Amino acid sequence: MPRDSASADALLSDVFGFGAFRPGQEEIVRAVADGRNVLAIMPTGGGKSLCFQLPALMRDGVTVVISPLIALMRDQVRGLRESGVVAGALTSGNTPEETDAVWQEIEAGTLKLLYLAPERLAAGGTMSMLRRIGVSLIAVDEAHCVSQWGHDFRPDYLRIGELRQMLDVPLAAFTATADAETQDEIVSRLFAGAEPQRFLRGFDRPNIHLAFAGKDNPRRQILGFADARKGQAGIVYCGTRAKTEGLAGALRQAGHNACHYHGGMEAEDRRIVEGRFAREDGLIVVATVAFGMGVDKPDIRWVAHADLPKSIEAYYQEIGRAGRDGGPAETLTLFGPEDIRLRRSQIDEGLAPPERRAADHGRLNALLGLAEALECRRKTLLGYFGESDVSCGNCDLCDSPAEVFDGTEAVRKALSAALRTGEYFGAGHLIDVLTGNLTDRIRDKGHDNLPTFGVGREFDKRGWQALFRQMMGHDLLRPDPERHGALRMTDAALPLLRGEAQISLRRDSIRAASANRRPAV
Ligand code: ADP
Ligand code: ZN
Repeated sequence: MPRDSASADALLSDVFGFGAFRPGQEEIVRAVADGRNVLAIMPTGGGKSLCFQLPALMRDGVTVVISPLIALMRDQVRGLRESGVVAGALTSGNTPEETDAVWQEIEAGTLKLLYLAPERLAAGGTMSMLRRIGVSLIAVDEAHCVSQWGHDFRPDYLRIGELRQMLDVPLAAFTATADAETQDEIVSRLFAGAEPQRFLRGFDRPNIHLAFAGKDNPRRQILGFADARKGQAGIVYCGTRAKTEGLAGALRQAGHNACHYHGGMEAEDRRIVEGRFAREDGLIVVATVAFGMGVDKPDIRWVAHADLPKSIEAYYQEIGRAGRDGGPAETLTLFGPEDIRLRRSQIDEGLAPPERRAADHGRLNALLGLAEALECRRKTLLGYFGESDVSCGNCDLCDSPAEVFDGTEAVRKALSAALRTGEYFGAGHLIDVLTGNLTDRIRDKGHDNLPTFGVGREFDKRGWQALFRQMMGHDLLRPDPERHGALRMTDAALPLLRGEAQISLRRDSIRAASANRRPAV
């Protein structure tokens, strides 16, 4: 049975079209695929359907899904079938033809997911049918419906416990209701003595310290971060395979126990690294995102990103590998304009259909918003996943609040430089225009005659680089996929240009960038 982590990751992207697991999904998928009894409490919108749909594809036989919401079942069946998964529903909303088709697929042994309305469990013949067709997993959505004291009580849910005992297969129950009494009632009624593994986490992982930094000298920044945590197990995520090898070498030279890991390595070599990481104390693995679901080490003390992850989901998932034991864990994510450009072009050049591309840009924007956040990062992060929270006290911006200023004027100057040069140039040339740097190219293009030439001398080159990064982070300027490196204004920038909106930017990161300038030798 293909239950290995690689196949879960492959199914996630190939069948469901997602680049990364949402918070909490990965652990639940693993437990359910392994045949454990599971009770998962996830916030609404957290993505619980994936937590049984994906394991259903990893397991032999049929997964029975019980849900009280007919419309939702039909939506899910339609979605799965569009992705090429054979799923069907038996509900009172079916036409006779639909029911016939489901039966045919059951008889042919091709059906993977069978959605059942709870009242079907009471209908004659259902139990014996389910006994016959090789059910290997029961998934229960809205499991709190089994609670007699809740307002969603469904008497037919009480039959699910019976079904589990009759079929003797694992059961995964999902709900968004987190109170302890309801949980206990779910456990006693659905699992009858077989204590399930519980996943109670919301999205917050309060023990993980969050921090971002603009790329200055990434290798030095990562080495510095690792040096301050010498002897502790950590992961450094890199954007390319080649970089993992180089950075692992640099860490070893600096006296760390480090090795690299990426998808281009032989399976055997990868297993060796996974084994070493699990056993050895204080090993650093420098890896691409291929170092993923198989990592089940509770005491990873830190995760650093040498390059910007591809979405906010990917970010959360990758930092979430740290501190699973609940102990303090640290993270650092580096990002620069090159990362933004690279991630944008990966999306634009991908084969995904246009809606999917727009959604991917949105997920990247959410991550960039987090990178450029002006206040508590956890608040921003949890806000994205639909959980609101107060400032956390465990992120770089809670440690030392950002210094902000009204950046509207600076942004308008930059936008005007881009527009007046035909949106044909990258940040480097635009900065030359703004700072009045008379290069050959400026002379050549006659850009020293533009009214914007030299209007931005209040910031130096490094300061403007930090500003352009922030502008790209706010999605005011985007690299043009057709013209390499050229920046184009987005619609989001229009209100600023027209003087209808203002924008706060971070002064401290601009100052830090300028201060970091190497002294002329
Ligand atoms: P609920 O927990 O409320 O049942 P759903 O399973 O309907 O949530 O998922 C909520 C939304 O999140 C859906 O639009 C789904 O496509 C999306 N989603 C789920 N998992 C992921 C993921 N790993 N990456 C991106 N989007 C996801
Ligand atoms: Zn905070």
